[in-house]
Amino acid sequence: MPPPIEENIAANLANVRERLDKALTRIGRPPEAVSLMAVTKNFPASAIRQALDAETLDAGTLDAEGRGHRLFGENKVQEAQEKWGGLRAEYPDARLHLIGALQSNKAAAAVGLFDAIHTLDRVKLARVLADEIQKQGRTPELFVQVNTGDEAQKTGVSLAALDGFVTTCRQEYGLEIAGLMCLPPLSDVPAPHFALLEKRAQNLGLNQLSMGMSADYEAALPFGTTCVRLGTAIFGSRL
Ligand SMILES: *Cc1c(COP(=O)(O)O)cnc(C)c1O
Repeated sequence: MPPPIEENIAANLANVRERLDKALTRIGRPPEAVSLMAVTKNFPASAIRQALDAETLDAGTLDAEGRGHRLFGENKVQEAQEKWGGLRAEYPDARLHLIGALQSNKAAAAVGLFDAIHTLDRVKLARVLADEIQKQGRTPELFVQVNTGDEAQKTGVSLAALDGFVTTCRQEYGLEIAGLMCLPPLSDVPAPHFALLEKRAQNLGLNQLSMGMSADYEAALPFGTTCVRLGTAIFGSRL
């Protein structure tokens, strides 16, 4: 029998980071240009703790002593609150990003908990986030999610509306936008979506790109991704 998933987490993290660094070196990008986000949705706090305590090679996301993974992603506000309540205090240098759709009525909780929100995708949410940022004095980094495949069932700003939306966020709500995020359609070759998002980010003067998951992260590396979001590759399949 294979060992339980949690025994493999540290090794998986190290292997993924090594693959990432090799692939980046091959294309002439420095390893520190890309952060490795460990996506822990559906996995228990005990699995997160394994990653927090792992010896990893990730120069970009290590703690001050150079041990342990520190960059994590969750897709639901409530699940993140439940799992991270204790861990946040215990690992104060851990960074937690929201990568799932955000309802306006959870914006206050999201601003209170997360260091970055990758799923800003509508004007109402921009307004509520701006209010909460003002109120709480916390400023999570904001990524605009873009629906590059124009998929009806997917959230994200359309390509046609993107420039206007970013301008509204900046000028009307005073929000600083850190970058763009996308999830290419499962049925498509991902590279053209990554290329398009890179171009649109350049045009908007944005230098962060949240692109690439377990199945397609290597395809995102030549197109300027600065954050790959990996779940399965680190923690195994989500049951
Ligand atoms: C679940 C999820 C990931 C990680 O997916 P894997 O295929 O397990 O690496 C990345 N980004 C988002 C937005 C997700 O919801």
